[in-house]
Parts: sequence; structure tokens; C-alpha cells
Amino acid sequence: MAENNQQAEQLDVLASTQSVIKQALDKLGYPEEMYELMKEPIRMLTVRIPVRMDDGSTRIFTGYRAQHNDSVGPTKGGVRFHPNVTEKEVKALSIWMSLKAGIVDLPYGGGKGGIVCDPREMSFRELERVSRGYVRAISQIVGPTKDIPAPDVFTNSQIMAWMLDEYSRIREFDSPGFITGKPLVLGGSHGRESATAKGVTICIREAAKKKGIDLDGARVVIQGFGNAGSFLAKFMHDAGALVVGISDAYGGLYDPEGLDIDYLLDRRDSFGTVTKLFRETISNEELLELDCDILVPAAIENQITERNAHNIKASIVVEAANGPTSMTATRILSERDILLVPDVLASAGGVTVSYFEWVQNNQGYYWTEEEVEGKLENVMVGSFENIYNLARTRKVDMRLAAYMVGVRKMAEASRFRGWV
Ligand code: NAD
Repeated sequence: MAENNQQAEQLDVLASTQSVIKQALDKLGYPEEMYELMKEPIRMLTVRIPVRMDDGSTRIFTGYRAQHNDSVGPTKGGVRFHPNVTEKEVKALSIWMSLKAGIVDLPYGGGKGGIVCDPREMSFRELERVSRGYVRAISQIVGPTKDIPAPDVFTNSQIMAWMLDEYSRIREFDSPGFITGKPLVLGGSHGRESATAKGVTICIREAAKKKGIDLDGARVVIQGFGNAGSFLAKFMHDAGALVVGISDAYGGLYDPEGLDIDYLLDRRDSFGTVTKLFRETISNEELLELDCDILVPAAIENQITERNAHNIKASIVVEAANGPTSMTATRILSERDILLVPDVLASAGGVTVSYFEWVQNNQGYYWTEEEVEGKLENVMVGSFENIYNLARTRKVDMRLAAYMVGVRKMAEASRFRGWV
């Protein structure tokens, strides 16, 4: 029973995030009231979305939008389409967005949305109707100066385009800054699609320098071959690293000589599935324990837990996914001197370029790909150094250091506003 409780706690991403926020606020000397403010979103909307399906039937989908804290500025964060979306998960994800915004110093708080659905089983037009229905349902609380959605798991630039169109119709003016991750022709930014993977790549490069690992020839394992994982595999391959393992929801591929990344990228489908084409696969559990220098969980939550943390062979773990490592596993990896670059830092490249997209929309003046990449490089390197150094001076792991940086601006803004 006790073991079951412990497991349940580990899998409760909201509870574990709250526990690190508490530690971070305590370390920074904030009172208990500040934690009470930050432990939950300030606003949480649950909506029911009726959608006419292609066969003429009507299905009612459940959706959520969480706004964690708007003391710094409008809230911002993606919308996830997934059968396992829960209210708790959306809340935790909105808190992580606040932390990311604080870490890379954006004028935002965190937001997040989700719809309980499986886009793999829906037609193009059904997806359009659910996307538009979601915007109609949440339109009162979102907007370019209120809360700005973006893509996340199983959502893409097409879905952002439908959402933008629906919002613009409701408001009766074209409003490109309402949403980010749009197609370029609708005011999207160069570099947005690959931004998360670019940010992860920069963190890997900086972490490798600290560990004295040469990226040229380093062995990399990546769990997940979707937006984040596939671009990352390409960038690692281009940097001279050997990508020896990749996986998707159905299994993993392993080649100690390095996988043919260009071939795999060519064969993957739009949901990041590729392993179904192969007969010799390994499980995701085996993949995480492969012999390698750098391990990147880039799929889903709770992949490295106390069950497997002792068996991880990598010297660096960089979290491209949100919440892939439990708090107990974080401690085990730290005790084993494995450098863990936490999600709230490593995957902040996406929201950073989303911010650049919103700035370009607001000023109506657009930047080149080189300009976007140069600005992203500066932000990510600066943020990595800041958190790495804080972890060293305060003798804490990088996750706690990142949370300390992430909550500070929000806490100060809340204090100045007289909320706490
Ligand atoms: P995606 O939907 O494009 O790809 C997800 C990948 O994970 C696919 O390859 C899928 O097959 C795989 N997967 C799904 N379930 C799995 C399972 N049970 N075991 C192993 N693999 C599984 O999603 P994405 O945009 O690449 O996001 C991946 C992670 O990165 C998520 O945690 C997301 O929140 C995080 N993230 C993404 C972005 C972004 O801009 N895309 C930004 C920040 C964080």
C-alpha cells in the first residue's frame, strides 16, 4: 500500500512540481502566502465542445485552459490534443510555462490548454471543427494581451491557423498575435518549428562542455521522434554526434554505429511514428538504459523514475519533454553525478521563439531566420550559464536552481502588485 502511494505521488506531476516550487520559494526567503498563490493556476476553465463528426453523429469533447499567474504579463502556453489529457496535467503544464518564461526572462506568465481527444483517429475536418469549437469556448479569457496559445503535443501550425481564423472572426479583426506557431504566411516566425530542438541542442552543447564531452562522436539516445525529438536528432547528427537510439510510442531502434537519421526522418509520419516499419525493435524501457553519453527524453512524462534511475548509463540527461523525470529520480541522478538539465530550461526554446513571433506580430516587422537564431542562441546560453552557476554556488541540483530563477520574477511582480 505504502509503495502504491509512493508510486501515485511520483506520477502526480502537479504535486511534484508544487514540492519544488515550495523548496525554491523557501530558499529565496518568500513567505508561505507566496507559495499559496503559486501552487495552483489563478484561473482554470473547463469547457465541453460539441463537434459534428463526419458520420453525422455529435461527440462532446472536454477541453481545459489554465492560466497560472499573470502578474508579469499575459499568460502563454500550448494546447495539447491527447486522449490522456487531465485537468491536473494541464495545471502542472501551466506552472511549468510560468517557470520557463521566468528562466528566459519573457514578459509572460504561464498558461496551458488541452483537449481530451485522439487526433490519430480523427479526420482533417473533424480536427478543424474541434479546434474552432475550442476557441469559441475559451474566447472570453484568451487574446493577444490576455493569454496566447501555441502548439504542443499532437497540435501543429495548421491547427494554429484554424484557431487564429476562428478568433479573428469572433473579434471581427485580424489578430495574428492571438496565437503563435502559425504558418509563415499567417504571421508565423522563421525558426519556430525547430525552436524547441534548437534550444535543447544549445543546452546539450553547453552541458557537454561542462562535462568535458566532445559532441563530435558523442553517443546520443533520444526518446520520442516527434517535433522535438526528430529535429533534435537532425541537429545532433549535423553536429557530428552518433544518434545510437531513437523511439516513438511503439518502440525503439538501436544501432551502436549510429542510426541513419536522414532515412528515419524521411519515413516518419506526422505523429512522429517510424519504428512500426522495422522488425527489430527494442522497448522504450530498454532504450532509456542504453549505453550512451547523452540521453534526451523528448516524449512524455514520468519516464525516468526510481525504477530505472540507477540503470541510466548517460553522463548527461537533457529533458526536452515536460516532466520526464520524477523528483526521486532527480535526486538519484544527482547523487550519481549525472548532469541533469531540467525541462523548464532545456525546452524553453519553443516559448522563446513564440515570444519572438508575438513581438514580430505586434510590430508588424519580420526578422530573418539568422536574426531569430542569433537571438535564441543568446537567450539560451545566458539562461544555461545563469542556472548552472546558481546551482554551483547554492549547492543545489539544476532543477531546483532553475525553479529558483523561474519563480523569482513572478514572485517579485506579485509582491509589487500588492497581491502578497
Ligand atoms: P509530438 O507529438 O510531436 O511527438 C511526441 C513523440 O513522442 C512521438 O514520436 C510519439 O510517438 C512519442 N510518444 C508518445 N507516447 C510515447 C510513449 N508512451 N513512449 C515513448 N514515446 C512516446 O510532441 P513534441 O511536440 O515533440 O513534444 C514532445 C515533448 O516535448 C512533450 O513533453 C512536450 O510537452 C515537450 N515540448 C515540446 C515543445 C514543442 O515546441 N514541440 C516545446 C516544449 C516542450
